[in-house]
Amino acid sequence: MSSELNRLTIAEASAKLHKREISALELTRSCLERITALEPRLNAFITVSEKEASEQAVEADRRIAAGNAPALCGIPLGIKDIYNTRGVRTTCASRILENFISPYDATAIAKLREDGAVFVGKANMDEFAMGSSTENSAFGPTKNPYDLERVSGGSSGGSAAAVAAHQCLGALGTDTGGSIREPASFCGVVGIKPTYSRVSRFGVIAYASSLDQVGPFTKTVRDAAIMLRTLAGVDRLDSTCSARPVPDYEKALSGDVKGLRIGVPKEYFIDGMAPEVESAVRAALKQYQSLGASVHEISLPHASYAIAAYYLIATAEASANLARYDGIRYGLRVDAEDHNALYDMTRAQGFGTEVKRRIMLGTFALSAGYYDAYYLKAQKVRTLIRRDFERAFESCDVTVTPVAPTTAFRIGEKMDDPLTMYLSDIFTISVNLAGLPGMSIPCGYDGNGLPIGMQLIGSPFSEETILRAGDAYERSGAFTRREPAI
Ligand code: GLN
Repeated sequence: MSSELNRLTIAEASAKLHKREISALELTRSCLERITALEPRLNAFITVSEKEASEQAVEADRRIAAGNAPALCGIPLGIKDIYNTRGVRTTCASRILENFISPYDATAIAKLREDGAVFVGKANMDEFAMGSSTENSAFGPTKNPYDLERVSGGSSGGSAAAVAAHQCLGALGTDTGGSIREPASFCGVVGIKPTYSRVSRFGVIAYASSLDQVGPFTKTVRDAAIMLRTLAGVDRLDSTCSARPVPDYEKALSGDVKGLRIGVPKEYFIDGMAPEVESAVRAALKQYQSLGASVHEISLPHASYAIAAYYLIATAEASANLARYDGIRYGLRVDAEDHNALYDMTRAQGFGTEVKRRIMLGTFALSAGYYDAYYLKAQKVRTLIRRDFERAFESCDVTVTPVAPTTAFRIGEKMDDPLTMYLSDIFTISVNLAGLPGMSIPCGYDGNGLPIGMQLIGSPFSEETILRAGDAYERSGAFTRREPAI
């Protein structure tokens, strides 16, 4: 029995823990055993924290015994290696931070710690969250638990694969252009990117600060609501974080979508999309209609400019954010004759190819003479994209779209062609540009048995609505989860 505890959802495990039917220590051990068994093949983790996790679990059992412990007390979670985690190696999947031990906790980590959650390890990702497949990790790619020759998605691919393969009950990711939703879709789990500013980013290694957002991966929508309730809320350490009160997201899960108006953007059903992805999402829309929701077509006319705008804004911000890795303050230092050579050599050896490509692109987009033509223009396009959504949400409560045009692709398939790789995020990127909440939930499998996800997008701070809609679909029984082959 104890070897199967890792298969529980957070809600199930929490109920058993509080009834003292199981202990946090046995639950944690079953996850750690699963990690040991699968890691050589899956590569979902960069660092496994066996000792710390066991200590946290013992402490959680003490708290639960004392009564009144929070829902996440004793729940084993995976943490994307982009979160500063006190006393634990935090690499961002880069050689430049390979041996960096963080002296402090990100706010998201501090909040989970306060609730008594257990951290089993630091999950693999694309270097500095740049990518859609984890193939840009300095520690090698995370494999897809449904097919070890395929990618897990990215950049938070380790977190998604770890949850799908039951190495932990939930995980933290970050999403700048799709990095929670795309891997959630590829691995058949739930992933939510909250509204920009809903969750503090303090202590999350910055990629593109006007786009980055923190969010959870879970097996169910209910579990996502439970994690988000802990994560969301004001933080005096992050001035971009909203002071809006945090609703009890779990309470919003009424199971009822009668009268919900679903908009389906016509621009999101494009040529080149896998037919099985389209038919799975269309079938889910039918299911929503049978549950009493209405479905109508909407238009997001500037959707086709999203990728171009994103890759100017994201790279521009990244080029500034990554200037701090200079061999002086953090991480790797390659000694050289003078300071300039030290900077150059450290960055040349510390950063991978994709990170260098983006620093160069971003520096170019911001340079004198090009700023107006590229960066400023991209910001204007961003406003148009946001207005498209504002207009759309006058006539609908949520929009439903595919998450990605395909299911998980083969490892190596897109590595020689960055532009094709960038297209993986064609349906998710606009949501970050507009600052909206978006969630990926599983809705089917393709002919190879690979998971397909659908995306629910809401207006700012409408997390309750998209969680309610996702949960209602999940409960309706239209979709039955299949366990991964691994
Ligand atoms: N794949 C996109 C990129 O490479 C998004 C990554 C992310 O959301 N962190 O930038």
